[in-house]
Amino acid sequence: MNRYRLDENSKVRKVFRILGPVLLGVGALFTIIGVIGIFTGQFFMFFFAFIGMPLDFIGSVLTALGYMGAVARYTASQSAPVAKDVANYMMDNTSQSAASFAGKVAQEIKAEPKPVTCLHCGEVAHLGAVFCDRCGKPLAIICPKCNESNDQNARYCQKCGEPL
Ligand SMILES: [Zn+2]
Ligand SMILES: [Zn+2]
Repeated sequence: MNRYRLDENSKVRKVFRILGPVLLGVGALFTIIGVIGIFTGQFFMFFFAFIGMPLDFIGSVLTALGYMGAVARYTASQSAPVAKDVANYMMDNTSQSAASFAGKVAQEIKAEPKPVTCLHCGEVAHLGAVFCDRCGKPLAIICPKCNESNDQNARYCQKCGEPL
């Protein structure tokens, strides 16, 4: 059913492709005759233009219809990679902004002080506490070289690598 309609469509298109340019040519010829008639004062020729111009119009419409499919396909094949590029570009941008957004979130998570559990007594210390308020042991090791605050079980400074 679909195939039949498709075949019919292409048959009609073939007819249009031949008939369209023929009508265009005849129409143009008639229009030219009409114009010549106007300039030469032979007014019976003027009526050729009346026939020629609609013929021209019909011819151009038929030609357009006959080649429209091909043009549409051509345009589609031409614009498809462009559309893909645009999509890729947008995807790139989106993934980049998504990545930077994720990076920002990660930074914020990293920057936010986490509650520290005392390794010695298991007490959950207050945010920003340096010493455990239950056993008095240090919750963080301050690097003697760069003053970076390191985890209480750190063996080396996370910032400068100094042994702690
Ligand atoms: Zn403690
Ligand atoms: Zn350090």
